[in-house]
Amino acid sequence: MKKAIKDILEQDNLSRNEIIVLLESEGDDRTLLFKKSAEVKERYIGKKVWFRGLIEFSNICGKDCLYCGIRKGNKNLERYNLTDDEILSAANFAYTNRYGSIALQSGEVESRFVTDRIENLLRGIKELSNGELGVTLSVGEQEPETYKKWYDAGAHRYLLRVESTNPALYSKIHPDDSKHSFKRRLDCLKSLQEIGYQTGTGVMIGLPFQTIDDLAGDLLFMKEFNIDMCGMGPYIEHVSTPLIVHSENLLPLKERFDLTLKMIAIIRIMMKDINIVAATALQAIDPMGREKAVMIGANILMPNITPGKYRDSYKLYDNKPCADDSAEDCQSCLEARVSLADAEVIYGEWGDSKHYSSRQEKSLE
Ligand code: SAH
Ligand code: SF4
Repeated sequence: MKKAIKDILEQDNLSRNEIIVLLESEGDDRTLLFKKSAEVKERYIGKKVWFRGLIEFSNICGKDCLYCGIRKGNKNLERYNLTDDEILSAANFAYTNRYGSIALQSGEVESRFVTDRIENLLRGIKELSNGELGVTLSVGEQEPETYKKWYDAGAHRYLLRVESTNPALYSKIHPDDSKHSFKRRLDCLKSLQEIGYQTGTGVMIGLPFQTIDDLAGDLLFMKEFNIDMCGMGPYIEHVSTPLIVHSENLLPLKERFDLTLKMIAIIRIMMKDINIVAATALQAIDPMGREKAVMIGANILMPNITPGKYRDSYKLYDNKPCADDSAEDCQSCLEARVSLADAEVIYGEWGDSKHYSSRQEKSLE
């Protein structure tokens, strides 16, 4: 006999089949799932949200991921790279507005120049904020020595989505070459964790060819890998990418959105004290998307503080929201939205992953 949702939700460890039942839940069953994940969040994290001011500092990318609007092969796009001054002044905006942290994100470039540049920027950011601004990096796959350099220069969190943990699906959404290797993605995640970063990963939801079983596997991977942070969002097509040819066979956007909320709720139940991002892509589908994610389990928001003139050029997917807003607009809008979700923005704190701290304590025991 199939276990009732109520009984599944009582457990701490979920099997693959149980996760699938939760992912397929509808109506009252789904309400029970969201109620449980909201309770777990309140108990382990509180009704709190921390900001990471997001600086999308360059859309130059050496890779060609088949889903992404800023892939190297997309020629319908003006490339930009913020100056060091622009990056530091965005960081300063975050600091003076008491955001606890920033996140630096860009396309993936592996070069001596980029390694040194980011190292210098990290030192500059620490200096301008008296060491108070926390920094998350999200600049893709790099050599372990590079990750270590940046860690030593002050970055302490790293987001590298695995995109899908099914190697067959991974190879369908990436070019088939050594630059886009699933094994390297895993090796990078491992080295980030070994170096001591709070390590975050996640997947896109609603990809072509993706099954519910794949998504259950993704959640089990995150638990097994013992991640500290999770960033998951719906896959959204971009017209100038190769995956656009599969648009006809995708789940409707609304279903991708619903599935993303369920994924967030389930990972919150499975990994109670990790940090979970309410991804901006949710808002590209539903104007209240990020608030809904906060209500059922997410505790991190990433207000965009990239200087406005560049926002239009950092389009990973179509219909990216808030492309015209200024950093100030973004903050007041988000604050109002967070209170709608019955939560409170915590200023002046890093908002580190509690899971990371308890992992550190355990390793000292
Ligand atoms: N270059 C870095 C960081 C920028 S891309 C990296 O790849 O890690 C950040 C994330 O954007 C990717 O991990 C991917 O999950 C997401 N993304 C890219 N294209 C997308 C799309 N079409 N829909 C939804 N998310 C997308
Ligand atoms: Fe580049 Fe990241 Fe987009 Fe891949 S997902 S093409 S690495 S920006």
